[in-house]
Amino acid sequence: MMSDHKIDRIRVHRVLIPGKAVHSHGIGDVAGIHAVILEVITDTGLTGWGEASPWPAFTGTAEGTVAALYTYLRPHLIGQDPVQVERHMRDAEALVVGHPEAKAALEMALLDLTGQISGLSVCELVGGRMRDDMGLSFSVANPDFGKDLEDVAAMWAEGVRIFKIKTGFKSHGFDLMRLEKLRGIYGAEADLRIDYNQGLPAYDAVRCIRDLEAFRPTFVEQPVKMHERDALAHIAHVIETPIMADESVFGVREALHGVQIRMADIFSLKVMKSGGIRRALEVSAIARAAGIEVYGGCMFETGLAHAAGAHLMAALPELRLDCEFYMSTYYASEDILTEPFPVRGGRVHVPEGPGLGVAVDPAMLAKYAQAEALG
Ligand SMILES: [Mg+2]
Repeated sequence: MMSDHKIDRIRVHRVLIPGKAVHSHGIGDVAGIHAVILEVITDTGLTGWGEASPWPAFTGTAEGTVAALYTYLRPHLIGQDPVQVERHMRDAEALVVGHPEAKAALEMALLDLTGQISGLSVCELVGGRMRDDMGLSFSVANPDFGKDLEDVAAMWAEGVRIFKIKTGFKSHGFDLMRLEKLRGIYGAEADLRIDYNQGLPAYDAVRCIRDLEAFRPTFVEQPVKMHERDALAHIAHVIETPIMADESVFGVREALHGVQIRMADIFSLKVMKSGGIRRALEVSAIARAAGIEVYGGCMFETGLAHAAGAHLMAALPELRLDCEFYMSTYYASEDILTEPFPVRGGRVHVPEGPGLGVAVDPAMLAKYAQAEALG
């Protein structure tokens, strides 16, 4: 049974939205949001929106994402029924290897359309609305820690209680100093987490992490290189604080291997890594079967991809560690949505309404365009 809608046109936009500050990570600095925005338009006049937010040091490049979407996937989508999401995703996975962010953008746009057609929100299409909101984590990643302290104080006043300190990009002493300072100011009410973004050498990782454990972090994320999975498993085995795998788990295959070697206590779920919301739910199912927790991670994204992430997290059977969809509220100089991404009182609110429940402002795409839109 087909819907009465056909994909008529596909447009691909490249935007760069400047950040309010440089954010430093174990694998490099980021000064803005490089996003590829996908517009899937039906012959019935509906528009589904999708976003790919690649990071060259982590998932891929914007140029590669544009080519995957426009050159390689677009010809197979024109004239097709948008609601047959699994069929299109299976085809996309067969047509283009890798490029999980491009596939995430495609699935996002198709689910947005399917939601508009059915009157259901995306979280309902993939399982149901298990929660309406979740705690928001902000990443302390400014090389100028004084500026971070000002930002944290402002966010604390707004109700944010979760802070993820990006470590391993400067010195071990700098990391210890920042943790001591934040724990000293905010006490036990602060939920402090640590993310090395692969920044520790495996041979010395255990000793460095043990030093930081004095400040009672909730978890330590990705201390070693993405492919050093055995080292990560060893660290998770000997360190008492929960260890999270982020760069080491993209999709279901890494998740399955990760479970087999007990690589971590937590997996970071990201639609950009797994190639969509539904594949991320598959990763979460593998984790859940093994007693591994999941967490709502993101790349450098606009509010559009954050909305997809919020729908993913809303549909999970359990969520204890909340999410980090802070970019559009606290990092980007401006967002591309017609309404602000819903963050209130330190919590992310899952958008309501059919589909993703958010819409892109075309004027913002034009303002931050990096190239002429394709299509
Ligand atoms: Mg991370």
